[in-house]
Amino acid sequence: MYQYIDGARAAGTSGQTAPIVDPATGAVLATPALAGAADLDRAVAAAGRAFPGWSGATPGERSAVLTRAAELLSGRAAELASTETAQTGKPIRLSREFDVPGSIDNVSFFAGAARQLEGRASAEYSADHTSQIRREPIGVVGSIAPWNYPFQMAVWKVLPAIAAGNTVVLKPAEITPGTTLLLAETLTEAGLPPGVVNVLTGTGRTVGAALARHPGVAMVSFTGSTAVGRQVMAGAAADGPKRVHLELGGKAPFVVHDDADLTAAVHGAVAGSLINGGQDCTAATRAVVHRSLHDDFVAGVAELYARVRIGRPADEETDLGSLISLAHRDRVAGLVDRARGHARIVTGGAAPGGALAAGAYYPPTLVVDVAADSEIVREEVFGPVLTVQPFDSDEEALRLANDTRYGLAASVWTRDVYRAAEATRRIAAGCVWVNDHIPIVSEMPHGGYRGSGFGKDLSGYSFEEYTNVKHVMQDNTAKSVKPWHRTVFSH
Ligand code: NAD
Repeated sequence: MYQYIDGARAAGTSGQTAPIVDPATGAVLATPALAGAADLDRAVAAAGRAFPGWSGATPGERSAVLTRAAELLSGRAAELASTETAQTGKPIRLSREFDVPGSIDNVSFFAGAARQLEGRASAEYSADHTSQIRREPIGVVGSIAPWNYPFQMAVWKVLPAIAAGNTVVLKPAEITPGTTLLLAETLTEAGLPPGVVNVLTGTGRTVGAALARHPGVAMVSFTGSTAVGRQVMAGAAADGPKRVHLELGGKAPFVVHDDADLTAAVHGAVAGSLINGGQDCTAATRAVVHRSLHDDFVAGVAELYARVRIGRPADEETDLGSLISLAHRDRVAGLVDRARGHARIVTGGAAPGGALAAGAYYPPTLVVDVAADSEIVREEVFGPVLTVQPFDSDEEALRLANDTRYGLAASVWTRDVYRAAEATRRIAAGCVWVNDHIPIVSEMPHGGYRGSGFGKDLSGYSFEEYTNVKHVMQDNTAKSVKPWHRTVFSH
């Protein structure tokens, strides 16, 4: 059963089903009964009932449950990693060494953060009053997550919300609900009261859109594409307004200056572009390389791309597994094919045949001689594809880096501290790495500028997103007629 409502597994009642497919083989793993309107109402009602109790728990009580959840999740790490790999096609090494331990660390972080709410000091900012700040949970949070890092995205959505005392109805992508359901069950096992976290496995058009508009939902937290983010925001406005948190697409530039360590930049570009098959919103997608290094950079990346081992996601040796689905693979291939007329494909560009033909595989693909306004440079490909553009001056590098509607992440590769400082100031993105690309930590925020959305995941910043700030101002004078009244009436 693929729904999790009020602390228990349940079957969806929409009458619709959708297969969960192993994208590496095409085999159907399961065919869940999807959630519909009645399940949504039931989940929102359960979250509403759970809110007074959970929001009234002390931070220490909430922290104890989440600390226990982190321990239990650590005990299930191997199961979480294999489930994640089976449903997404990502290499087991990535699930086991990055997605799962990183997400469990997030759970531990928010267990601690639950006890660290901050606000301004209570004081007499007016001589006649004492002011204090309260940070209060918002209510039922509707969360919508994508398929690329299902477990991590569920943790990023759920943990700050519940640590702050909210309750949640989470809709994972209907093709990847496995690890999200395991998370919900483990939270219950750790002592989370029924109804605090509910999971609805349903489609975006039905459950996702209705969740954003639902009158019982006080806030909508969305991670996914920019196009759907716009619809979610409109839905939240229609019957709201509700608070909206949007983590959207990306098209990260990877800027290599002429003084960079070329070997480091080449390795960084390969890892940064191929992580999770390039289905990563912060992946390096647009290399912007000083002309003097351009050809060596291209040759270096091409050489390492040729050594990447494409194969079964569960194999230890596999570097690059399958993409999420054949439909997505075909979309990636289409973007590369349409670039052929005006750009040069140095390596890759054709799906492998043979034993891998039935899966959604696509090879590392390097595209050069691209025009800045071409589709392959402007659109989010979300696959193992890197474009390379040369530049001649620092000014041009910054212009190309910012020449995108997105603004999620970027990196700059240089040994010059002043150049690095200038780039970190002027690149319009929520994260700028210097001489690396991809690493994240629980303590630091993740979130976009511009078309990549707004609001932060991870860190204390995300914790604050899930609280309302209340100012309480109390009269200290005990006078019936206050001095300030004379500004309105003087008798
Ligand atoms: P998507 O936008 O197609 O779907 C995301 C979620 O929204 C899914 O659960 C989907 O079912 C749901 N959805 C679809 N239509 C909806 C609608 N009309 N109303 C409400 N919900 C709806 O994205 P995807 O293809 O699952 O994921 C890839 C995208 O996610 C990429 O654009 C990627 O950059 C982005 N992403 C961003 C971040 C970030 O932190 N900024 C992280 C991961 C992925």
